Amino acid sequence: MLNNQQILLDMLSGDEKRILHASHTVIHSGITNRKLLMELHPHLSDIKEKTRSLKYGGSLMPNDRFVEKAIRMIDESVGNKCLCEYLFDFIGQNGKSMVRYGFVLLEENMEGYIDRSIIECSSCHQRYEVEEEYTGWHATITRRKKI
Ligand SMILES: [Zn+2]
Repeated sequence: MLNNQQILLDMLSGDEKRILHASHTVIHSGITNRKLLMELHPHLSDIKEKTRSLKYGGSLMPNDRFVEKAIRMIDESVGNKCLCEYLFDFIGQNGKSMVRYGFVLLEENMEGYIDRSIIECSSCHQRYEVEEEYTGWHATITRRKKI
């Protein structure tokens, strides 16, 4: 686990790999370590400046989206809105795996190839129904809605 100072240094490093790794940590901290996002907030304009016009790669979908999402979350971290919605949309995520980012798994039902789970944000208590489909070896969230 990177400490907060290290994450700031990584975000300002100009090194695509370090920025991507730090961005993932920032995104995953939405519920469990919001303090990190708030500590990065005073540096937001520097972070935007230093992460701009770099090449982040990504074979299926551009990795830029992780950096953009991290920046959006830092930006919104000082408001009152819970950031749990931002924790979705990762390839390979499923209802169970969301527990490690601060969700509580309330229910899980398997119907054929579709796994339906109900998870709840441990911070704002918003519940989400997520559907996962097995693609290859992974169960991946294909649909989610607030309930
Ligand atoms: Zn929430």
